Amino acid sequence: MNEYILGVDIGGTTIKIGQFDTNGTILNKWDVPTDRSNNGSNILKDIYTSISTKLDIESIRGIGFGVPGPVSNGIVFHCVNLGWGEKNVAEEFNHFIRDHYIEIKVSNDANVACAGEVYQGSAKGYKNVVLFTIGTGVGGGILVNGELVDGFTGAGGELGHIIVDRKYQLPCNCGKKGCLETVSSATGIVNLAKLKLKQSTNPSLLRQFDNFSAKRVFDLAKSGDALALEVVDEAADYLAYAMSLVTLTVNPELFVLGGGVSNAGEFLLDHIKAHYYSYVGPFVKNQKMVIASLGNDAGMFGAAYLVK
Ligand code: ZN
Repeated sequence: MNEYILGVDIGGTTIKIGQFDTNGTILNKWDVPTDRSNNGSNILKDIYTSISTKLDIESIRGIGFGVPGPVSNGIVFHCVNLGWGEKNVAEEFNHFIRDHYIEIKVSNDANVACAGEVYQGSAKGYKNVVLFTIGTGVGGGILVNGELVDGFTGAGGELGHIIVDRKYQLPCNCGKKGCLETVSSATGIVNLAKLKLKQSTNPSLLRQFDNFSAKRVFDLAKSGDALALEVVDEAADYLAYAMSLVTLTVNPELFVLGGGVSNAGEFLLDHIKAHYYSYVGPFVKNQKMVIASLGNDAGMFGAAYLVK
């Protein structure tokens, strides 16, 4: 009988499920909507139902889960986006499987995305990697000597909540102020741009819009709009500063940037590098900085990697 490994990436609106063979080749993938009603109490059951209608449960060797919250030793502490409090995912999922043994692993979604890039993406073959996922928020994943760092209470790799800004003090979803994600996420970049538009009368094509996206800011910066360029450079500076703290803590060989903002590609990398090397000075040798390659599938690949 064939043996499969499943990678399950549980997001706030969609659950992505990937079916892999034991060599890590993806065979099939599908989505299930995330039912957040009743504190997300149907989520694991929905996943089980979806899997068991497509596959013979006995053909599954292991399932890896990525969840949007802190995890340590397989215990989820809380997932605000799912409505979950403390949860033992493996124990609850085994309840559905009953007498068949399936290896179950659980980790934080950003850590898992890092593992995905190491497994099949732009960090393939590397053992010391740090991923920054720069989307609506900023997530992080740290791999040291081939092992993901969850930490004592799952806060390992929460890079988006490193405080980098003491000037604007924008409130963060975590309850603090000045976190990396308040100034360098897609939301943060728009926040910065709106602040700068308000604080000066300098001309900018951004003034034509009541609302705009981070992509708009990047596009205008690329075409030479001075105010947009200032925003991109400042957001990149905050990222560079956070990366320097990480470098002096775990000294990764490779930084990977993922998430929607990373679509800005080399333009973003150039602005980060312009600041980064002044922060790390002589402490960095042969380190690389690249863009992630798996996009939204990184979590699914990484969740499967947890089992492999
Ligand atoms: Zn925060």
